[in-house]
Amino acid sequence: MKARFATPEIQMDSIVDGDGVRSVIWFQGCDHKCFNCQNPETWDFDDGVEMDTEEMKKKIRELEYQQGVTFSGGDPLYQVEALIDLAKCVHECNMDVWVYTGFTYEELIKLGKKDKKYLDVLKEIDILVDGPFVNSLKSFAVKFRGSSNQRIINVPESLKKNKVILEEKFN
Ligand code: SF4
Repeated sequence: MKARFATPEIQMDSIVDGDGVRSVIWFQGCDHKCFNCQNPETWDFDDGVEMDTEEMKKKIRELEYQQGVTFSGGDPLYQVEALIDLAKCVHECNMDVWVYTGFTYEELIKLGKKDKKYLDVLKEIDILVDGPFVNSLKSFAVKFRGSSNQRIINVPESLKKNKVILEEKFN
């Protein structure tokens, strides 16, 4: 399927976009429009590059020595089907999946009650860093996040217990 990415490249060997050494895939498009967002060039849904997810999956399968893949943007949750497709591929390659989103976990659960794909995508996410960037809560003290309202959520545990479970390692 087609999806829009900020760049066709996968950024490898990042140590700032989640746990361990990771690769990052940047989705294009975001409607949250957080004040002082670091990546406003990724907001426009018509910008970036259109690519088939099959092509991106080929690049994922070629990754070596990476703990996992982080999906960022933009907001990957605006292209849910493509995110499901790619996240499944990451798991098939025995890597873990982190996703950064401007939606909160609770908003995604609510969306999932109307449209199952939002629940399906959560099932393919190991760690969700959720919520918009709030400039007044900007903090360098919170690991892997821009502002202190954002949470690092253990998604499998949260789905199992039906409430938000923070990932102990980082909160
Ligand atoms: S959700 Fe992320 S990409 Fe979107 S406006 Fe907020 S900080 Fe920027």
